[in-house]
Amino acid sequence: MAIIDPGFKSEIKKYGAKDFTACYNCGNCTAVCGLTDKEVNFPRIFIRHGILGQTEEILRSKELWLCYACGDCSETCPRQAGPGDYMAAMRRYAIASYEPTGITKLMFKSNPVFIVLTLFFALLLGFFLFTLKPDYEVSRWLFNILPYAVIHNMGLVIFSLTGLSIMWGVTVMALKLTKSMKEQEKSKSNWVSSLMMVGKELATMNRYKTCDAEEDSFWKEQPWYQQPWFVHWSIMWGFIGLLVATVLDFMLKDPATNIWWPSRILGTIAGIFLVFGTSLAINYRFKKVTKAYSQTRLADWVFLWFLWIAGITGFWLEVSVAFQANLLINHVIFLIHTIISMELVLLFAFSKFAHAIYRPLALFLHFQKSQNKN
Ligand code: SF4
Ligand code: SF4
Repeated sequence: MAIIDPGFKSEIKKYGAKDFTACYNCGNCTAVCGLTDKEVNFPRIFIRHGILGQTEEILRSKELWLCYACGDCSETCPRQAGPGDYMAAMRRYAIASYEPTGITKLMFKSNPVFIVLTLFFALLLGFFLFTLKPDYEVSRWLFNILPYAVIHNMGLVIFSLTGLSIMWGVTVMALKLTKSMKEQEKSKSNWVSSLMMVGKELATMNRYKTCDAEEDSFWKEQPWYQQPWFVHWSIMWGFIGLLVATVLDFMLKDPATNIWWPSRILGTIAGIFLVFGTSLAINYRFKKVTKAYSQTRLADWVFLWFLWIAGITGFWLEVSVAFQANLLINHVIFLIHTIISMELVLLFAFSKFAHAIYRPLALFLHFQKSQNKN
C-alpha cells in the first residue's frame, strides 16, 4: 500500500522547493531533459509524487540521482514551477531521510542550526588538532580548561558517527532502491559491466554532457572547460586527488616536504583542478548565469567556499614547506586548512556531499537495469 504524507508539500519547501504545485502536468520538463527516455522518466513524475505526498516512491527512486541539476527543465516550464530546483530539494530530502541521526534534517532545514553546528564542529576540530600536538603552549593552556582526553575522545566519537551514518545511509538507500527493482533485473545483470559503466561515467561525465546540449543553450557558445560538466568533473576529481595525496603524505611523511615527490605532484595537479572548478562554480552562482545557478542555499555556498579555501590554503602550505618558512602565519594557515579539510570529511554524511556516494550507487543500479533491456 502506498504511503501518503499529507505534510510533504510544505515539508519539501524547507529543503528548497519553490512553487512546484503550480505544475499543470504539461510534460515540457520531461521532454526537454536530455537524460530522460522511455524507461527513465523525470522530473514530471516526481512532481506528481510530491503533490500526492508519495514519499516512499521518491526515496525508492534511482532516477532522482540521475538528474545533474542543469536547470534546462526550469528554463522551459511555462508555470515557473521550478522542476530543477524541486529535484535538488528532493535529493536533499532523500539524503536527510537516509541519514539516521537527524543532524542532516536540522542542517538542511534551518540556516541558524547549520551555522551553529558548522561552527561547533570547526571549534571541536581545532581543539582536536591540538590534542595531536600536546606540547604546544596553546595546547597546554587549552588542556587546563578542557581535559585532553575529553577533547580527543569527542573528536573520535564524532568522526565515528560520520562513518557509521554514511554506512547506514548507503545501506538504507540500497535496500530501498533494490526493493523497487524486479527480481529478474537483479539476477540477470552483470555487476562487473555495471561497475565499469559507472567508472566510465565518472571519468567522462558523458551523461552530464548531454544536458545543456540544445542549440539555444547558454553553454553551447562556451568553451568545454567552462561548461558545467567540466566544472563538476574538476571539483570531483580535484577533491579525490587531494584526498589520495593526503593519505600518501600521511603514510610517507618526510618525502611529502619535497614538491617533486609523486604524492606532492598528484596533490598539486588535483589542487589546480579543485581551485579551478570551485572558482568557476562560485563565479557562476554570484552572477546567476543560468536558472540552475540562480538560487544558492547557504549550505551550498559554505560547501563551495570550504572546498576553495582548502585548495588555496593547500597551495600556500606547499610553498611555505618547500621554502621551509617557519612563520606564525603559516601555522595559522595550517590550522585553517586542516580544520576546513577535516570539516569537509566530517560533514560528508550530513550535507549534499553525500551525493558523491549516492549518485554512483544509483547509476550502478540504473546500468544494471538498462543491461536487461538490451
Ligand atoms: S514543465 Fe512545468 S508545468 Fe509542465 S509538467 Fe513540468 S513542472 Fe509541470
Ligand atoms: S535539472 Fe536538468 S537533468 Fe535535472 S531534470 Fe531538469 S533538465 Fe533533467
